[in-house]
Amino acid sequence: MITSRRSFLGLSAAGAAAAALPGVSAAAPSGDKPKAVLRLSCQEGVAPGRNLVEKLDFLEANGFEGIEPGGRGLPGRVDEFKKALEGRKIKVSAICAGFQGVLISDDENSRKQAVDTIKEILTAAGALGSTGMIVVPAFHNQTKLGHQEGRELLVKLLGDLGAHAQAAGTRILLEPLNRQECHFLRQVADAAAICRDVNHPGVGVMGDFWHMTWEETSDFAAFVSAGSYLHHVHCASRKERKVPGEDEGDNYVDGMKGLKWIGYQNYISLECGCKGDRAKAIPAAAKLLRDQWAEA
Ligand code: MG
Repeated sequence: MITSRRSFLGLSAAGAAAAALPGVSAAAPSGDKPKAVLRLSCQEGVAPGRNLVEKLDFLEANGFEGIEPGGRGLPGRVDEFKKALEGRKIKVSAICAGFQGVLISDDENSRKQAVDTIKEILTAAGALGSTGMIVVPAFHNQTKLGHQEGRELLVKLLGDLGAHAQAAGTRILLEPLNRQECHFLRQVADAAAICRDVNHPGVGVMGDFWHMTWEETSDFAAFVSAGSYLHHVHCASRKERKVPGEDEGDNYVDGMKGLKWIGYQNYISLECGCKGDRAKAIPAAAKLLRDQWAEA
């Protein structure tokens, strides 16, 4: 019987799964990895409030440790953010995209526009102490390059972007999406394999529970496969992409077990719509996520 064999080997089901993955030690949770922490973050556009200060007040009052701004226009907002964050515990978490052009476009001008504007946003992200800037290499119909050619191009471009990110004091983070939005990059492990091939500390990956709902067979395994490349997580309800808890049965425990396994130190950030009143739904989501983290 599988259960008794596991108990004989002294491995939990989760431990047995991770031990079978290349590069992952069965001793990971109690080994040299730090104890994972739950740091809640919320996108700027998701938090209620008439301006940045009101949004920060709301998030801090509800125990959030991070705010995730969009990258669009961020280079012109660095001073605004620095001033608004002065004397607060809450920090900038990741920066969500906001660049122009398409990184793996078949059109050279579009690629150049992407590289140039990503670098501008990375510089701003570094100035704000951000964990990383989120980048989608190409949505549906944004490139005519085939998968192999697109991947080779991406690996080449990420070396330069990673160096720029590291010099700025931040990272570039690849975001896998679900099949309705892109075909190029859909699974966390695929993004992690790209990071491995680039092999630069300025290049990492993030996972979005919403996209993972459709693309991953195991949230736990997806995060374990990303390991130390993982530096951000997005969270939404699992049926309609609203505030976590607004869909019946919203559950993140399996993924949180993976985050604990890898000693995750960065943020889980709300990227979602809202069915009801944000001022009530977001504190309820924070409680749900804290309860499930404790359970994981
Ligand atoms: Mg996302």
